[in-house]
Amino acid sequence: MDELKPCPFCEIGVFEYNNDTGSNDESYYEYYECNNCGARVSTKELASARPIEDKLRARIKELEMELKEISEFRTPFTSDLE
Ligand SMILES: [Zn+2]
Repeated sequence: MDELKPCPFCEIGVFEYNNDTGSNDESYYEYYECNNCGARVSTKELASARPIEDKLRARIKELEMELKEISEFRTPFTSDLE
């Protein structure tokens, strides 16, 4: 997916590509800047990266799997008690 995610700081703006050239060639640099709050990141990967969100999603999936196992395991017991 090539589309950039909304800015993680203000959650309103999107990162837009920019580049700047200083007084000499060595100071040329590229960056992505939020069009709402002005937050800057140096690469497109960083503009789309959400390490914590990705980690949390993975953990949620893990927990959902465990919960599914638990509920499958518990069903015979509850029916025995009825
Ligand atoms: Zn922003």
